[in-house]
Amino acid sequence: MTYELQDRNFRDEVDAGDNGVLAPSSSRGAPPSEGRSSDSDPSRGAELSGGVASNGLSRTPGSRDRSLVYAIANQKGGVGKTTTAINLAASLAQAGERVLLIDMDSQANATHGLGLRVPRGSPCILEVLLGESGMRDIIMKCSVPGLDVAPSSPETAGTEVLLANAEAREFRLKQALAKAALPGSEYSYVFIDCPPSLGLLTVNSLVAAEQVIIPVQTEYYALEGLAQLMSTIVAVKERLNPGLRVAGLVLTMVDSRTTLARQVEREIRTHFPRLAFETVVPRNIRLAEAPSYGIPVCMLDPHCAGSDAYFDLALEVIGRG
Ligand code: ATP
Ligand code: MG
Repeated sequence: MTYELQDRNFRDEVDAGDNGVLAPSSSRGAPPSEGRSSDSDPSRGAELSGGVASNGLSRTPGSRDRSLVYAIANQKGGVGKTTTAINLAASLAQAGERVLLIDMDSQANATHGLGLRVPRGSPCILEVLLGESGMRDIIMKCSVPGLDVAPSSPETAGTEVLLANAEAREFRLKQALAKAALPGSEYSYVFIDCPPSLGLLTVNSLVAAEQVIIPVQTEYYALEGLAQLMSTIVAVKERLNPGLRVAGLVLTMVDSRTTLARQVEREIRTHFPRLAFETVVPRNIRLAEAPSYGIPVCMLDPHCAGSDAYFDLALEVIGRG
């Protein structure tokens, strides 16, 4: 396999920044437990936010004076975008941060995966993008303290068609956030879960974001489509959002027992030595089960491999800043 687009080329154009990597935590060992927030491991919060010196993090939760906005994007379907959005957001909220998760996908998986439904007749992200509602009007609380959701609903299917002729159609999300004074000091982190396409909804997300996190599934065709995604990011950076950069690529659903997974990981790390996050997310049944309970994995089973991985990823994301 040859891939034209490498870390080096991409870094020049997209400015991945200095991707310092944090040592993964090793807070395993406690028995798995079922439960809600009371089961969460407080030491993890301390490690993410306060355990600071050893992780190179030097701030207390909620002390940021403005939000960091991340789009989680890959036009390939089913690569772990929503799972990453929910569990990264929840890991940071658990650490005491105020986090907003914006669901830009009409599948509404992030909304439903956090146990939320938009009541019939109530506005959601569609109305916000069309300028018919304010962002603050749609924000919902979920079962994770500190994590709010700007929900989507299956009724938003067709939003892209409605947006196609709208004025400043690529800037609707950015404008809505600005109008609501978001990102402001209210949320330390904003994550935007993108749909599996490079259409207007993803472009809106890339315009509103400062950084992009790209989940990459460890499968044979993992790198296919990455060049197209990177070109889209470069085009958005050049024309619409000069400050945009890539936070990193995260390998998802890794089954390290297989030769294929090891090959794909090697391939990704060869082509994207700086952009690839050190943390890999293993294939883990608890991650797949959590959405059916409407909670993130850290509340379903705080000590499973999936919880550990997203906790470690949160450390890396914070570390890259
Ligand atoms: P779409 O492109 O449709 O929005 P997506 O990129 O958001 O999909 P997810 O919905 O996060 O992908 O994941 C696809 C499926 O894989 C889901 O059923 C999810 O529960 C499962 N899944 C995601 N990550 C893992 C994992 N690490 N281990 C096991 N199952 C996973
Ligand atoms: Mg999704």
